[in-house]
Amino acid sequence: MFHSSYIELSKSALQNNITFLKQQIGPGVKLSSVIKGNAYGHGIEPFGSLAQQCGVDHFSVFSADEAQRLYAALLQPATIVIMGFLDNDELEWAIQHELEFFVFEPDRLEAAAKTAKALGKKAVIHLELETGMHRTGFDTGYLPAVQTLLNNYSDHVHLKGICTHFAGAESFQNHQRVTAQLERFIEQVKQLQATGLQAEQLHTASSAATISYPQSRFDLVRVGIMQYGFWPSPETYTYYTSQNKEQNDPLQRLINWKSRIMTLKQVAQGDYIGYGTTFKAPRDMVLAIVPVGYAWGYSRSLSNQGQVLIRGHRAGVVGIVSMNVLTVDVTDIPDVTQGDEVVLLGKQKDQSISVASFAELSTQLNYELLTRLPLNIPRLIVD
Ligand SMILES: *Cc1c(COP(=O)(O)O)cnc(C)c1O
Repeated sequence: MFHSSYIELSKSALQNNITFLKQQIGPGVKLSSVIKGNAYGHGIEPFGSLAQQCGVDHFSVFSADEAQRLYAALLQPATIVIMGFLDNDELEWAIQHELEFFVFEPDRLEAAAKTAKALGKKAVIHLELETGMHRTGFDTGYLPAVQTLLNNYSDHVHLKGICTHFAGAESFQNHQRVTAQLERFIEQVKQLQATGLQAEQLHTASSAATISYPQSRFDLVRVGIMQYGFWPSPETYTYYTSQNKEQNDPLQRLINWKSRIMTLKQVAQGDYIGYGTTFKAPRDMVLAIVPVGYAWGYSRSLSNQGQVLIRGHRAGVVGIVSMNVLTVDVTDIPDVTQGDEVVLLGKQKDQSISVASFAELSTQLNYELLTRLPLNIPRLIVD
């Protein structure tokens, strides 16, 4: 292998998570697999086809380029919804290939309608409503204009969904804001229905809302972080366990990020390790040099803090994480050898390095840490 590290994706873990999520939402609710941010760092291509093998047939992406990558990687047809960035230039491609997309401004809606008409096709849209997130979404003031456009272009626009997104359902601090959003959503949907605008799918819930606000599931849930085996927040997990009297985490992580020992180095007590003087050897030591650094997403803030697994033991990072290498203390690990597997994230024997602990040390959120795992680390599917 020509790479200094690689990321394994566990198929059985994904199957477990998808089965769990489908059980939670029941047969009447569609599961959309959110794979923005390079499938939360897992890799759009390997993750997309793996998800299909695990029974997923509906995906949500952020942008047209992600949609293109997914479209090319899928093994069989699936529904793809673009939730965010789609230039008017890319509309043509999306409509031609029958992708669905959110619209949240009249210009986009009009451009979609005209493009579909020119192509002799139907644009399949999801009307995103502003309910209090204040990011994207139609303000109520626009709804009459939306309605006129939809009526004028009824042959070329199919209103498939009406949706919104909550401003932080993973924290109960936002409870009032989220429930107010839900009420506004229901109210606006009623108003649209009263004027004759119907959609097959109402959807609002991300992972956190799916668990903590079951009434927000409607016809479809857009689940990102949980399918990868992570809870959106400790609060969501606590809520789940309290509701279900369950003691074990039902989710499993897919990711194992692995490298190997590039070389070993003996140092004497009193020697400084790596750049600068942040680490002075307190005793004679054996160090392992691992060919992964901040250029591959191993944060510099894990200097003198991070841990890795070698031969089923934890080994601490000593000194500053460099661009391409990090150094760990292996003095007390028996039989350590050049070429030994190093687990940066994930499991080895009965030990594990969780993204949560890793993220806490580097003050990054699960979401942020995962999505920063670089594109160019190879992803391998394992069972
Ligand atoms: C990211 C995102 C989701 C999924 O969020 P998770 O917390 O990862 O489940 C759902 N909907 C929208 C609009 C999003 O941007």
